[in-house]
Amino acid sequence: MGSVARLSGLVALGLALMRSAFAQTPYAGPLFDAHLHYNDEACVHDAPSPGCPHPLTDVLARMQRNGVRAVLANSRPNAGTLALAGAHEQTRAAGVTVVPFVRLYRNRADYSGWFADGTIAEMVQTELARGTPAGAYRGLGEFHLYDSANANGPVAKQLMALAEQKDLAILAHVDDVAIDLLMANTPSKGQIDLPPGRPKADPPPRVAATHAAAERGGDGMRLIWAHTGISGASIERVDELFTRYPRLMGELSYRPGLTCDGGQLCPEWRALLLKYPERFMIGSDTWVNQRWLYYDELMQGYRAWLGGLPADVARRIAWNNGAQLFGFNQNAPATR
Ligand SMILES: [Zn+2]
Repeated sequence: MGSVARLSGLVALGLALMRSAFAQTPYAGPLFDAHLHYNDEACVHDAPSPGCPHPLTDVLARMQRNGVRAVLANSRPNAGTLALAGAHEQTRAAGVTVVPFVRLYRNRADYSGWFADGTIAEMVQTELARGTPAGAYRGLGEFHLYDSANANGPVAKQLMALAEQKDLAILAHVDDVAIDLLMANTPSKGQIDLPPGRPKADPPPRVAATHAAAERGGDGMRLIWAHTGISGASIERVDELFTRYPRLMGELSYRPGLTCDGGQLCPEWRALLLKYPERFMIGSDTWVNQRWLYYDELMQGYRAWLGGLPADVARRIAWNNGAQLFGFNQNAPATR
């Protein structure tokens, strides 16, 4: 081997080593936790310990030390969200923006019947009218449909139409079949309907509004698919739904098959996230207290695979997609 060839071989080796070292550097920017619950198992807000194993100081400290700068907050019952939304000084000190959602559940029994229960629709209307100390509710959910056919229940239909009318986002734990059914229950059918004269590709779908929403000054409903198919809808099916519905976004907690060796993204998921960099978000899903106990590890796990993505894509999935969806600072620094 000549010296030039040897040198170029060394350069190539050096670059390959740098690339692999770079790929394993965790993402260090801000995080938007797009699936957070502050349920009454974590804290009953008018009870002292042991009724409140995770008081506000505890959950905010967990967010702060993990660089979580905003949370999509919902809780069963809604008291937990209202407590977070009302803790102005504490959330400001922790550097956390609270994006409140109305939970559809007052108790565990509501999980299995909300889609046909008129009193749930009433509760949602009451909550929306009242708002939160951090401002208006920005969405509805998380809700669950264990049988996708219930996406056509009267209250499910009513709430999907309401979400579009009021520019609310939806956080839905459902299967792929229910995504089609829920979208069919919105006036837009999940499609972007730009004002005439605006080309489809500009602005991109994530900021585009339906014509009706644009006239109101809003930007319409978004359906956030909790877990992006927790029972493992195929990657081809997820891709198909993302192509069909520009108003669909995916949250990635508990998604089977997402990560492979070394906690990095599996190749097919990496390809999907690169195909739709503006459509995915990360979340903790603190549905039981164990998830609070492992909050650090959960966020470190996300930072590990985010670090394997191109920096701009990592930043979008970690932060910008959520910040843009709810209209706040996309340039937030990563204070930890
Ligand atoms: Zn959840």
